[in-house]
Amino acid sequence: MARFLLLFVDGVGLAPASATNPLATEPMPALGGLLGGPLTSERVGAGDGWSLAALDATLGVPGLPQSATGQTALFTGENAPAILGRHVPALPGPRLGALLAEHSVLRRAERAGFAATFANPFSPRYFEEVAARRRRHSATTLAALAAAAPLRDLDDLAAGRACTWDVTRESFREVEPSVVPVDAATAGRQLAALAATHHLTLWETFMTDLAGHHRRGWTAAEALARLDGLLAGVFTARSPGLTVVLVSDHGNLEEAEHRSHTRNPVPLLAVGPAAGSLADLTRIDRLAPRLLELLAAGAER
Ligand SMILES: [Zn+2]
Repeated sequence: MARFLLLFVDGVGLAPASATNPLATEPMPALGGLLGGPLTSERVGAGDGWSLAALDATLGVPGLPQSATGQTALFTGENAPAILGRHVPALPGPRLGALLAEHSVLRRAERAGFAATFANPFSPRYFEEVAARRRRHSATTLAALAAAAPLRDLDDLAAGRACTWDVTRESFREVEPSVVPVDAATAGRQLAALAATHHLTLWETFMTDLAGHHRRGWTAAEALARLDGLLAGVFTARSPGLTVVLVSDHGNLEEAEHRSHTRNPVPLLAVGPAAGSLADLTRIDRLAPRLLELLAAGAER
């Protein structure tokens, strides 16, 4: 039985190694050890149990790719920027929300008989703020809400059955003081264990996009250290049938010389038995349909 752990990492493009590309300059031992070098465009191809493809995130639409449309494209397989006629930043409005409600990859996996889950935890405070219209759901959360499986909560997190967007829970704890931090590798091992009991597990982080925008004190060094630590744990604890898939919605962090998004392709890194079945993809809106195909085929193509 095929299993996938989809690591959605906001705002990470694939660019050549350079002195201004933090993916090339920051130490990332887990990723570098796997790929034999940094997560840059020079690594596109395949190795022992892994593949790296460069996915177009512009989807034929002018301007800089943005989160609401890019994530909707990733999690639905629909060309959201073309449907709306532009790249839409931040959080989805009604039209993108409707696409996510109908075409969510988590919902479609569930309807095909697979166990799908969103690994990020939510607190009662989060839903109070949404109800009070102080915050809106992200595309990822809307994709998860379209499925029947309940969102994970703070009890799940305490039991190690969830992983926060900031990996170590330290930023998450600023709004939820009862939360106990973990080291990044432990978070990764817990995420791999959760993924071993589902067919499709989605995890989201936006610390990388915050770092690219220089927002909320995030630096590329901190975001990439936590990501690499998480990957170290995931790779160590990955069950043999699990394919780990790392993807982004648009570029940002890979060009440290400015604070805006880029039109660079994004990485599609796959590690595990289905890695070779994802290496031919070229666009972000092709990933969701391919994952559903591979689940249906038992990952044998
Ligand atoms: Zn951004």
